[in-house]
Amino acid sequence: MPRLDVIARVEKGVLTGGQWRPAEGGATFPVEDPASGRALCEVADATAADARAALDTAGAAQAGWAAVPPVRRARILRRAHDLLIERTAEFAALITLEMGKSLTESRAEVLYGANYLRWFGEEAVRIDGTWKVSEDGTARVLVTHQPVGPCLLITPWNAPLAMPARKIGPAVAAGCTMIVKPAPQTPLTTAALAALLSEAGLPDGVLNVIPTTQAAAVTEPLLRDGRLRKLSFTGSTPVGRLLLSQAAGGVLRTSMELGGNAPFIVFEDADLDAAVDGAMTAKLRNIGEACIAANRFHVHAGVVDAFTDKLVTRMSSVALGAGTDPTAALGPLIDERQRRRVAGLVDEAVAAGATIRAGGRLPDGPGYFYPPTVLTGIPAGARITREEIFGPVAAIQTFTTEDEALHAANDTEFGLVGYVYTRDLNRALRVSERLETGMVGLNRGYVSDPSAPFGGMKQSGVGREGGNTGIDEYLEQKYLAIDMA
Ligand code: NAD
Repeated sequence: MPRLDVIARVEKGVLTGGQWRPAEGGATFPVEDPASGRALCEVADATAADARAALDTAGAAQAGWAAVPPVRRARILRRAHDLLIERTAEFAALITLEMGKSLTESRAEVLYGANYLRWFGEEAVRIDGTWKVSEDGTARVLVTHQPVGPCLLITPWNAPLAMPARKIGPAVAAGCTMIVKPAPQTPLTTAALAALLSEAGLPDGVLNVIPTTQAAAVTEPLLRDGRLRKLSFTGSTPVGRLLLSQAAGGVLRTSMELGGNAPFIVFEDADLDAAVDGAMTAKLRNIGEACIAANRFHVHAGVVDAFTDKLVTRMSSVALGAGTDPTAALGPLIDERQRRRVAGLVDEAVAAGATIRAGGRLPDGPGYFYPPTVLTGIPAGARITREEIFGPVAAIQTFTTEDEALHAANDTEFGLVGYVYTRDLNRALRVSERLETGMVGLNRGYVSDPSAPFGGMKQSGVGREGGNTGIDEYLEQKYLAIDMA
C-alpha cells in the first residue's frame, strides 16, 4: 500500500455535526512516523471552542439518536465491522505508519477492533429490563434502560483503532452520542474510523472528533459542562486520577482503563516451552506498549535458568525494524521520550546490580527503536518492578514458595492482569483467586477478547469494556413504581 495514498485519504480536521473542518484559529500539529522520526502530515489542533461545538452537536443529536430503533444501531455497527474487515490492509497501514508496530500486528488490531463493533452490534438488540411484584405486593417494579447521554471518550496511542472501537461500539449500541479525543500521536486511524462509521450509516452529530495537543485545556471545560454525562478514559493512571477528580465536579459516570504492572508467574511444574511462548506474546505484543504487557516475571528458582535461557534465545532472534518492513518483527517505540524512559529504567536496574542477558543497547540510526531485552538479578524494589515499562524489556525475579510469588505479584498499586503458568489445577485456581487483578491468563499469554470483560482492580481502573456487561457502562437503569394497591 503506497503510504502517501493512505495518509492522503484520511480526514485531518475536527469533526463536528458531520462536517470535517479546520480547528478554530487554523492551528495544526504534526503526526510523526516513529520508525523515522519524520512528519507524516499535519492535523487540526482543536481548541476549547471546537470541543464546545462538538458538545453542542452531540447534545443536540442525543434525543433523536436515542429514539433510533436498536436494530438500526445494530446494522450500522455490523456494516462498520464488515467495511473494516474489507479495508484491513488500508487501516493496518495507517496504524503502522503512525504508531510503529508491524503490519502483521496492525492487521490483528483491525480484526480485534472490528470484533468490538460486531459484538456490541449484537448487544444493541438485547438491552432488556425486568418486571416484578414489589415486596409488599402493592406495586409492580418495572426496570428499563436508557442511554447515559453524551459521552467524552479519551483514548491512548498504543492501539489507535481498538481503543476507540472498544468505546464507540458500546456507546453506539446503547444510543449515546459522543466526542472522541484521540491521542495526539495517533489521530489518523481514529479519523479514518469515524469516516467509516459515517459511511456505515451513523447519523451526523452522533460521533464528533477533536484531535488536539492541548488535552487538558480542551477536555476540562467539557467535564464541567452539565450536558456531558459520561467520561470513558483509557490511558495512564496519573492522568486517570486527574480526570476522575475533574469528573467528580459534575458527578459524571466514569469508566477508567488505566495502567498495569502485570506479574507473569512461572511455577516449577509449568510447561516451560508453553510459558516461553506465552512470555513472548505477553511481553512483545504491541512492542511491549500494552497495559496488559507482562511487566514482572516471577520464576520459580528451580526452573529460572532453563526459562531464562529459552527466553533469551527467543528474544535475541527477534528482528527489529520499521513496521512496514516485512522482514522485521518488532517496530519502534512511540517517541523519543518513551525510548528514554525505557532505557532509563534498564540503566537504573543495571546500576543497582541487574544483569543484561539480551539487548539493552540502543541501536544506531533514525527512529525510536529499543531492542528486546532480558534482565536478571533485579534488585528488590527496583523502579522497573514498580512502574509500567511500556517497552520490550523482560525483568526476571525468582521465588521459592507460592506465598512468596503471590506476595510479590500483589505488591503493586496496579491490578489489571496476571499470568500464571502451572500444570497443577488446584494451584492454578488458588493463585488466580488470590491475584488482585481484574483478569488472569492461565497458561495463556493473551487475554484480550471482545466477549470478555476487560478491566482492572485497584489503580488499574473502574469498569469493564466488552463482554455481556460492557454495554451497561453506557446505560442508565430506570425504575417505574406502578401502583397496584
Ligand atoms: P496518557 O494518560 O498520557 O494519555 C492518554 C490520553 O489522555 C491521550 O489521549 C492524552 O492526550 C490524554 N490526556 C493526557 N493528559 C490529559 C489531561 N490532563 N486531560 C485530558 N486528557 C489528557 O497515556 P498514553 O501514554 O497515551 O497511553 C499509555 C497508557 O495507557 C499506559 O499507562 C497504559 O497502561 C494505558 N492503557 C491502558 C489500557 C487499559 O485498557 N487498561 C489500554 C491501553 C493503554
